[in-house]
Amino acid sequence: RKQIFIPAFIIGTTEIVIHAIGAVYYVGWDSGFHYYLIVLVPFLFFWPTGNTKIKIASSLLLYILYACLFLFSQIYSQVHRLDLWQSNVTTIINVFVAFATFAAVAIYYQITTNEVEQKLREANSRLDSLARTDPLTELHNRRTIVERLGEEENCFLKNGKIFSIIMADIDHFKTYNDRYGHTFGDQVLVGIANLLKSATRTRDVVARWGGEEFLILLPETGGEEAREVADRMRMVIAQTPIFLEGREIHLSMTFGVAECSSNTGINECIARADKALYKGKGNGRNQVVLYRSQVGQPAE
Ligand code: GH3
Ligand code: MG
Ligand code: MG
Repeated sequence: RKQIFIPAFIIGTTEIVIHAIGAVYYVGWDSGFHYYLIVLVPFLFFWPTGNTKIKIASSLLLYILYACLFLFSQIYSQVHRLDLWQSNVTTIINVFVAFATFAAVAIYYQITTNEVEQKLREANSRLDSLARTDPLTELHNRRTIVERLGEEENCFLKNGKIFSIIMADIDHFKTYNDRYGHTFGDQVLVGIANLLKSATRTRDVVARWGGEEFLILLPETGGEEAREVADRMRMVIAQTPIFLEGREIHLSMTFGVAECSSNTGINECIARADKALYKGKGNGRNQVVLYRSQVGQPAE
């Protein structure tokens, strides 16, 4: 496109300059043909090549040409004198063209700016969602859930609204990786992620915490209720086989639940869910354990 543009721009610019000089020389300054030299200035900046310095220098050159043309017209009289009406009509038409051209340039500029802004906004939101999503499972990633946990904690400190978290870990996942390979394991993780999502409520936030561990945030939910949600997830996982590469995979998961209703902070809350989870692993897996803060010990 540039290759077509450059000759077109050169021919166009030269034509306008010659035309303006010729017209002022022939019918005089008052005919208003000199306005075309001013109109050229914004067009110089549309040139597809050349740096800004050259464009500014060219604008200056145009100004000098304009000033010389003016002085020339003051000293020498034009070749052909138009009558008053002819001169007035010519001026009005030329001024109109100058106005219209400036308006067109401004409109073009505005449209282009809006388009660029729109594209930038879209690209930003795409990048943002990429940075917040786990590429494999398309769940929220660790960063996002940490952010959401912070928001939930603030909400608790302000309004006293308790919330709960569930730490979930696939049982004996290593076995599946070792037996069928890592890629197969990845596909299993995708299947598990979908099951977890389908078993939670829309306001719950399901995230991949890392490896084969998932963290679920349940806003405005007490420990007992969270345990019920976790148990529903546990049953869904245990009862729904995953079909992959002609195989039927039966998995189970263990869940640690912690209620976040004190000022202990997010990290302590996660640590409690983790403790409860490992108690569940020790107790034989495929179960939900709610951390009991009263006794300071995880218990079923
Ligand atoms: P447990 O019931 O005690 O949780 O047993 P496990 O085998 O699931 O536990 P462990 O933590 O020993 O092993 C987790 C395994 O998960 C290790 C690794 O092979 C696998 N893993 C972690 N991240 C990924 C991943 O992104 N893709 C795949 N395919 N495997 C992963
Ligand atoms: Mg595991
Ligand atoms: Mg693990």
